[in-house]
Amino acid sequence: MVWRIFTLLFCQVLVGALAWYLAPPELALLEALAAALIGGYIWFLLDALRGTRLLRWLREGGADDIALGNGLWGEVYDRVRRSLRAKDRLADESNGRLSDFLAALQASPNGVVLMDGRIEWFNETACTHFGFDAKRDMLQHFGNLVRDPSFAAYYSARNFHEDVTMPGRHSTTTKPVQLSVHIHPYGEGRSLLLSRDITAVEQAEAMRRDFVANVSHEIRTPLTVLAGFVETLQALKLSEAERQRYLGLMSQQAGRMQTLVNDLLTLSRLEGSPLPSALDWVPIDSLMAQCAQEAHELSSILNQQQHDLQLDGLPGVDIAGSSVELYSAISNLIGNAIRYTPAEKRIEALWTLRDDGAVVLNVKDHGQGIAPEHLPRLTERFYRVDRSRSRDTGGTGLGLAIVKHVAQRHGAELAIESVPGQGSTFSITFPASRVRHLPQVQAIAA
Ligand code: ADP
Repeated sequence: MVWRIFTLLFCQVLVGALAWYLAPPELALLEALAAALIGGYIWFLLDALRGTRLLRWLREGGADDIALGNGLWGEVYDRVRRSLRAKDRLADESNGRLSDFLAALQASPNGVVLMDGRIEWFNETACTHFGFDAKRDMLQHFGNLVRDPSFAAYYSARNFHEDVTMPGRHSTTTKPVQLSVHIHPYGEGRSLLLSRDITAVEQAEAMRRDFVANVSHEIRTPLTVLAGFVETLQALKLSEAERQRYLGLMSQQAGRMQTLVNDLLTLSRLEGSPLPSALDWVPIDSLMAQCAQEAHELSSILNQQQHDLQLDGLPGVDIAGSSVELYSAISNLIGNAIRYTPAEKRIEALWTLRDDGAVVLNVKDHGQGIAPEHLPRLTERFYRVDRSRSRDTGGTGLGLAIVKHVAQRHGAELAIESVPGQGSTFSITFPASRVRHLPQVQAIAA
């Protein structure tokens, strides 16, 4: 303020002094006073000009800097400018934090919807879960867009302590999608809706239930037969020959249960143990020699006349992995070929080394074959095309599940081709990275 008064007085005195100096002596005082008054007006005009510039700057939002110098307007401009800059910085920081927060919600694997009755914001996952359109559905009422009856009942009951399960927008009978939706109210009339895709969990739960039911069923059948024989042996006076026959049948049923338990244990070991080493080399020849012996025994147990078996190894070629697992997979395939092929028919298990270094095992039979609709489900646990034949020949329904598991653990692929009435070919292709052959070994040794 002092500066302001000083400049006003200075301007008046300066103009007054100039008039005093230039005017004739008899008019000097009068002209000096008039000039001082004009000097005051000039100061006022200049001052008003600066004030107007500041006002215009403020109206334009204070974007570009202007030069107002010192004094009252200069200081007002400086302080306003600093406070505007500080507010801008604060707003930028808040916007940045909000974008980070929304980006984190966007990255969430769950669907997130913020709403106050009407939808305020939702992420991509919510779009997929509920089939929302980012432009069209913003600010719509959630209850108008999601009309599933179980969700509608949940939404209108306003009891949000628990979640509700409902089908996803793209759920079909062949590809079901199940969502768990939970609303969490907050603030005044606002709520956060979280949706989670629980299809895999539900399927795993259904699989677990099926598995337990299947195992119980598989064990109950031989157990019932065994219990029946025990009762018969206890209640009836039997001849020695009959007793022996019953005991033989009982041992057959006990054997079935044992095979089933062994297969279940093999599967659980495959699921629970670390992947087989890529440094343990198993010679194909010795694997096949073991399998061939077992195959001949099985063929003669099941049939009076044996099959025409051709089981060859691949001399000098090794596979990296677990010999126990590989043996279990190969013997399962050869065992199936023997069990589902009539006696005397030809069964081949042959290995080929491909140009790209991979090796392929083809187990080919000329048996009953499998209809195409069964092929995709053959490796499911307890899936059988013909239940009674599988049981009669000692099958558990777990063999191909074990084969598939072993193949996957060795980076190999199982393929099945079959023509009903003509026979089937089961192939396992081991990648070159798991194969070494004699020339390679010799080259490394050299
Ligand atoms: P199983 O112990 O019943 O043989 P698998 O898992 O080994 O169980 O096989 C599943 C089903 O696939 C069998 O029940 C059988 O119907 C069919 N199958 C497997 N291998 C053959 C084959 N070589 N020829 C015909 N059917 C087969």
